[in-house]
Amino acid sequence: MRYISTRGTAPALSFEEVLLTGLASDGGLYVPESLPSFSAEQLEEMASLDYPSLAHRILLPFVDEAFSSEELREIIDDTYSVFRHSAVAPLVQLEHNQWVLELFHGPTLAFKDFALQLLGRLLDATLKRRGEKVVIMGATSGDTGSAAIAGCQRCENIDIFILHPHNRVSDVQRRQMTTLSGPTIHNLAIEGNFDDCQAMVKASFRDQSFLPDGRSLVAVNSINWARIMAQIVYYFYAGLALGAPHRAAAYSVPTGNFGDIFAGYLAAKMGLPIAQLMIATNRNDVLHRLLSSGDYARQALEHTLSPSMDITVSSNFERLMFDLYDRDPSAIAALMAAFDDGDIALSEAAMSNARAMFASHRVDDAETLACISNVWEKTGYLLDPHSAIGYAAATLADAKSGVPWVTLATAHPAKFPGAIERSGVAAVPTLPAHLSDLFDLDEHFDVLPNDMAEVHRFMSAHLGA
Ligand SMILES: *Cc1c(COP(=O)(O)O)cnc(C)c1O
Repeated sequence: MRYISTRGTAPALSFEEVLLTGLASDGGLYVPESLPSFSAEQLEEMASLDYPSLAHRILLPFVDEAFSSEELREIIDDTYSVFRHSAVAPLVQLEHNQWVLELFHGPTLAFKDFALQLLGRLLDATLKRRGEKVVIMGATSGDTGSAAIAGCQRCENIDIFILHPHNRVSDVQRRQMTTLSGPTIHNLAIEGNFDDCQAMVKASFRDQSFLPDGRSLVAVNSINWARIMAQIVYYFYAGLALGAPHRAAAYSVPTGNFGDIFAGYLAAKMGLPIAQLMIATNRNDVLHRLLSSGDYARQALEHTLSPSMDITVSSNFERLMFDLYDRDPSAIAALMAAFDDGDIALSEAAMSNARAMFASHRVDDAETLACISNVWEKTGYLLDPHSAIGYAAATLADAKSGVPWVTLATAHPAKFPGAIERSGVAAVPTLPAHLSDLFDLDEHFDVLPNDMAEVHRFMSAHLGA
């Protein structure tokens, strides 16, 4: 399988090369040159597979030259054995035609574990084979940091530096990162906001000369293709449980960077019958405005009760745009260059391509809290604020009716006790047993000024030999 850049001038890469990189050298994102697809007969046969077996079936074509079938199988079995539900991604019915797909049974209680636990193991195997070391550098406002550290903490060949805005992430989220320790793990609390952290990471990827010879940076945010790939699997898992290939389901996806829902779009292209994909956003609604009006326009960041969806631009949307423009890289390069200077409008043809599969709905904080409490009252089920946005969109929006709806439950409610309390429900979400001592463990992090030279000096000084 070859991977090509959405902007057309970077070299095509193999899976292994894509795994070890971030953005393409032309500023684009890597996508597979072509997708594997499954026939109705194959889907029927896949319907009985458990999660790891299904993951192996779906992911093997993407990695072909880099891992043998047996190697991949071992890695996948190990990856999903650390999840705390035997189904890995259990599907729970809440109402007629309304299901939630629980994606929070991994080590850090958010769906990001599905991809980052796998990514850590794929990287580890690749680096061992090549005898190389890499540096992971990422910025987080919440779930990515802990999931990335948890996924890579045992990899001797990876030094990991995660930047978070000092005093601006929740206690649970910070402690999930800072209580993991080891010689290769570095939490940097930056005296600035999330955008400052993100800007430093982006600039560091552009100019990696601060690193010693032989080391390079690997991205752990969802621009890394391997993350998207891993997320395709659970769309199939839920769809097959609900009757694919004979019945289509619709999915409502709490969306920030567009990585998770883009994986759903790929599942549809690979043969899974999908009736609709709902982009559920909070007040940071750049994609909802785009789908409503065709204008792709930045707005100031708003802080909401669903912090993992607080973004102003959804980077992975470029991967969809590539398809919306019939895979014409020069069209994407021109659009993205124009977007750097201001707002852009998509063509009529691109918009009608998008509307064929996607709907969108925006949910504000008051509606989020109302959804948490309504669902609790009606069903006794406790949604976290991100999942509540998805559920509200699936039930309130002008969604395709008559089809089963699956809301992706992206985080465990115990990660966001403040929002649960504000919703007024009588329930107090408790952390699962493996995290029950989270508030007793020692934290490890270094506070650094919002200064790139200082951060680079720190990183050089702390890189393992
Ligand atoms: C990251 C995250 C999202 C958003 O996912 P994207 O792939 O960025 O769209 C939604 N909910 C939770 C809990 C998350 O951690």
